Amino acid sequence: MTPIDLLINARWIIPVVPQNRILKDCAIAIHQGKILALLPQEEAAKRYAPKHTENLLEHIITPGLINAHGHAAMTLLRGYADDQPLNNWLTKHIWPAEKQWVDEQFVRDGTELAIAEMIKSGTTCFADMYFFPEQAAQAALEAQIRCQIYFTIFDFPCAGGSGPEEYFSKGLALHDTFRDNDLINIGFGPHAPYTVGDDTLKKVAVLAQEMDTPIHIHLHETAQEVEESIAKYGMRPSQRLMDLGLLSPLTQCAHMTQVNDIDIAILQQSGAHIIHCPESNLKLASGFCPVDKLLNSGVNVALGTDGAASNNDLDLFSELKTAALLAKAVSGNASALDAHTALRIATLNGAKALGVDEKVGSLEVGKQADIIAVQLGDLDLQPIHNPLSQLIYTNVGHRVSHLWVNGKCLMQNRELLTLNERELKSKARHWQEKIQARN
Ligand SMILES: [Zn+2]
Repeated sequence: MTPIDLLINARWIIPVVPQNRILKDCAIAIHQGKILALLPQEEAAKRYAPKHTENLLEHIITPGLINAHGHAAMTLLRGYADDQPLNNWLTKHIWPAEKQWVDEQFVRDGTELAIAEMIKSGTTCFADMYFFPEQAAQAALEAQIRCQIYFTIFDFPCAGGSGPEEYFSKGLALHDTFRDNDLINIGFGPHAPYTVGDDTLKKVAVLAQEMDTPIHIHLHETAQEVEESIAKYGMRPSQRLMDLGLLSPLTQCAHMTQVNDIDIAILQQSGAHIIHCPESNLKLASGFCPVDKLLNSGVNVALGTDGAASNNDLDLFSELKTAALLAKAVSGNASALDAHTALRIATLNGAKALGVDEKVGSLEVGKQADIIAVQLGDLDLQPIHNPLSQLIYTNVGHRVSHLWVNGKCLMQNRELLTLNERELKSKARHWQEKIQARN
């Protein structure tokens, strides 16, 4: 008998690789944070002597979800300004509120709240672009969740600094601090083509290639952005970024609701990734990302919630359902973004976009054990003809029962093990009172 750290017995397992596979009555053996084997439960019982065994006999196990675009601390502005188009929402409500409220404590408290919400709905890895990224990194470190954090770059002053020079110097120092960290990656976050000029974008492109470090940017979020770029630069933002050398397999482009055939060719050629954020795009009436068309063209599409101020939750399972339904409506094809493909965009494609697919994104031997279990025993999920169908087309975010990152359990039977739920609620209430009192 081989001694191991953890054995998870589950009713169903969807490893994502190989594709379209659902294993029944199997187990996952985990040792020193990594997946050692996937095998039938009977065999596992003969082969392994686990320190800890988790019997999840009405559960389905999948890779942890990867939320590939968001602004974690914006949980504290959840519901602060609804029912506005992007431009109004940003310039009349969100930017003024951020100017008034966002400081280190805001980011720390808001990020912790976001991490708790994400863990409770099945996310094991998140991408984050916001002010005071060192606070977000510290919150993630303490919660022991995986993340990629981008230091935001604008061409103008903001809560995080006076201008590009300060954003770069602080951001690069943060990158150095986390250079050897297994869970936390730091990347470049030029906010958008309309808030960052050519010189700064060029500098990001050069440094990112030199350092082999990811770039995260909002791109083609609205039709207005594309029109203004044509008026100002004589070209679409995608073309401009390509010309500036910013698009490569290191680049993650959030949104892409405005896509023509030239954009698709640019994305194919450059190897840049798309982060689809359907609920934020719907809520801000920004447009529709043609996910099916992009996937069929060989472009990697991942999934993100965007910030809680424009969603208004960070539940990636609900995002998945929206993405799957919307893809069918937009393409006029009910087979578009089928359930297996939907799960893939929220797991392996997310890992590819973040450049961590050798480590996570699927349940394969040798990968890090970033795993979730979803309980499918409740009445409203019966009968179970196909457990995957339940995952994608019903709302299961609140049924995620267990979550592991690097083989470490962060949630057991819905109880958070690295964060204090009561404390988080009281901090959120404190911010609510503070913001209301001033307004
Ligand atoms: Zn965003």
